[in-house]
Amino acid sequence: MKSTKAQAARWLSRLIHKEKIDMKDEKIHDETFLFTVEGFCEQKPVFFICRDEEGLQFGYHSFKEIDPSRPAPSKVKRHLIEWEMLESGSREERQEKILNTLVSTIRSRKKQYRTCQYCSLKFPPEQRFNQKTCQNCAPSRSHAVH
Ligand SMILES: [Zn+2]
Repeated sequence: MKSTKAQAARWLSRLIHKEKIDMKDEKIHDETFLFTVEGFCEQKPVFFICRDEEGLQFGYHSFKEIDPSRPAPSKVKRHLIEWEMLESGSREERQEKILNTLVSTIRSRKKQYRTCQYCSLKFPPEQRFNQKTCQNCAPSRSHAVH
């Protein structure tokens, strides 16, 4: 399995080549590109880069329910690179800036994950019952009325 940074770099260079996301496009409003991290945990973390009027927004998808087929994810924004900042650099500098921001978004999100003491799977905070237990394994779950 390739490192997350290598995965991200490959995805990003294709995206810049195809969609030119490193440049502002007056016709484009709120265009979102999704990046899925492979090999980190059971339910693969999803990150996004959104091109809007301000610049490029970076963030991740948050699923409240462990079963991802049920709800729509909520988008959590973490970083913004403004167009002014981005377009002042060369093509290589732009690509590097975008990659570094994406990778740091992924790193800080990964740090939020904890392994459940019962099922040994990794979960983000919104899917945990407490620091050590996921929602699936939470003791109160068997008594919960649905
Ligand atoms: Zn568990």
